[in-house]
Amino acid sequence: MRWVTVKTEFGPKACGVWQGEYVEVNAADPELPTTVRELLALGFEAQERAWEALPRGAARHDPANVELLAPVPNPQKIICLGLNYRDHAIETGAPIPEEPILFSKYPSALIGHEGKIVLPAVSHEVDFEAELVVVIGRGGKHIPKARAMEHVGGYAVGHDVSARDWQLHKPGKQWMAGKTFDTFAPVGPELVAAHTISDPHNLGIRLRLNGEVMQDSSTSQLIFRVDETIAYLSQIFTLEPGDLIFTGTPPGVGMARKPPVWLKAGDVVEVEIEGVGLLRNSVVAG
Ligand code: MN
Repeated sequence: MRWVTVKTEFGPKACGVWQGEYVEVNAADPELPTTVRELLALGFEAQERAWEALPRGAARHDPANVELLAPVPNPQKIICLGLNYRDHAIETGAPIPEEPILFSKYPSALIGHEGKIVLPAVSHEVDFEAELVVVIGRGGKHIPKARAMEHVGGYAVGHDVSARDWQLHKPGKQWMAGKTFDTFAPVGPELVAAHTISDPHNLGIRLRLNGEVMQDSSTSQLIFRVDETIAYLSQIFTLEPGDLIFTGTPPGVGMARKPPVWLKAGDVVEVEIEGVGLLRNSVVAG
């Protein structure tokens, strides 16, 4: 089961893919919700019911004619882990973290597949980071690690676009400013239902910049795995259906290269995660 959110004249609508078309879940069964976030909140059975209803759907969209938004365009939270791949921590010269390093993005940073990454006029060091995004299904607080995977609603491909000059050279060693410029959180194209991915810790993850492979690793390299991350985060705040967790990036980012590689207008970035999808975004000047 794979879900998208498409932009329609009536607002964002949750769709499933049925025989080459995106079919609106709510049009297939009026008792089903109009958003992916609500669908996640209703649990796995609702996802199955929605999937089975798709052939009855009246509102269908040709993929060539619709704009995809992030699969969950309106999450309550976007939580990100820094330095969560062993090799990436080493390439940046940072010690291996003993606890997750956390920062945030805001929903205003979200764009979908084929959305444009806008380079801010105030940054000259915009970098790329391929990431697996975990999407929370059932919410909770103080979730034990042993039950944590039951709270995963699905997975998506993400791109943690990062303005290094704003991330690393501002007072207080804060990261957030550099991470949440508008359009700095591409996610998509689809949300893949959790049960579709048999092992989220054994997925090839790679990033191509204008066709050249810049990052090529595996989620087996994650320092804090999905279950441990959910347990850790839920000590702090209540996780809600549709919350997004960016799980960190493998080696090969632009700032670690000699000379460094920064995104420029006209670039095309593709992030691909095995079994999850391929997210493509082009870069434009702000
Ligand atoms: Mn990152």
